[in-house]
Amino acid sequence: MLPLASNIAGNIHDTEHLERVRRSLRLDPHPLRRCVHALMQEGRSDVEAMQRLPETCREPFAAQVALHPLTLVQTQGSTLDGSHKRLYSTAAGDRLESVLLDTPTGRTSLCISSQVGCRAGCRFCATATMPAVTNLSTGEILDQLVQANQHLRPLGRRVRNIVFMGMGEPLHNEAAVAEAIEAITAHDRFNFSPQKIVLSTVGVPEGMRRIAERFPRLRIALSLHHADQLEREQLIPLARRHSLEQLRAAVQDVVTIQNQHVMIQYLLLHGVTDREQDCDALLSWLDGLQCYVNLIPYNPINDGRFSTTPRDHRERFAERLRAAGYMTYIRYSQGADIDAACGQLATKAP
Ligand code: SF4
Repeated sequence: MLPLASNIAGNIHDTEHLERVRRSLRLDPHPLRRCVHALMQEGRSDVEAMQRLPETCREPFAAQVALHPLTLVQTQGSTLDGSHKRLYSTAAGDRLESVLLDTPTGRTSLCISSQVGCRAGCRFCATATMPAVTNLSTGEILDQLVQANQHLRPLGRRVRNIVFMGMGEPLHNEAAVAEAIEAITAHDRFNFSPQKIVLSTVGVPEGMRRIAERFPRLRIALSLHHADQLEREQLIPLARRHSLEQLRAAVQDVVTIQNQHVMIQYLLLHGVTDREQDCDALLSWLDGLQCYVNLIPYNPINDGRFSTTPRDHRERFAERLRAAGYMTYIRYSQGADIDAACGQLATKAP
């Protein structure tokens, strides 16, 4: 019998619990390492992973260790591109989503959620409209990766890049997110390169510095979205707590700590963030920073508040940044038809 998410106290991502169970079952560390490897690095099914344990241990192990803190509720594939949205339920019944993206280079990225709902309150984001906010546990964050790889293995693929850009502000759940990144990059767990992980934040300066110190090779992205303080506060209520000057100082510190460029994400909202004066403000905020810029076309969430910047206008905006010497990309948006694109995640009852 294989474990169910909801009725077992500990899960496979809780290393202390795992060690306690191992000792109580007098289980040799070697087969347990092989079971963990099967699940976290090979994307094997639960049955295959459990087969790495001695037969006599499987039943008692399964009774004490849940392989999945999350239950998959629904999947939805895009007809426009290869993206694929996955709706999960926690044991407490909270719903969250993660998104598998096929990048144009053929590499598969996983967009992970760190919270159910989000307190940053961004006006353009569907997640911010969810009524309650709950932090996901480390195991619930990691299980999104385990289950994505289990889905991909029969297709001969695996997750190559991880972006913390799903539901939630990762630095509002910093302890669990940092522990998850430790596991994702540990050789005996997921063994993922930190350079393949992007943590995206709307701006929590002290959290950015702490994460940069702890993970010097991790890539940090700041979702700036506006370079005028008052207008930014209109878009991102959290901006009232952290000024643009504080964010700029944090970006400078992150560059110094990590000795690598920081990614600046900038959402193009037509007539709101994409005007000439907005570009002027952005250029002056960027002045002297070691960074590159991702321009994100807006994906409407059907509330009629904002509209998408036309393609030629986007190009002109990007050209001004490039002319000033900043590497600038217009981010390819995926999953728009299944509400899986950036800023569209909000769980709906299936
Ligand atoms: S855009 Fe990100 S930080 Fe802002 S409300 Fe949505 S999930 Fe939170």
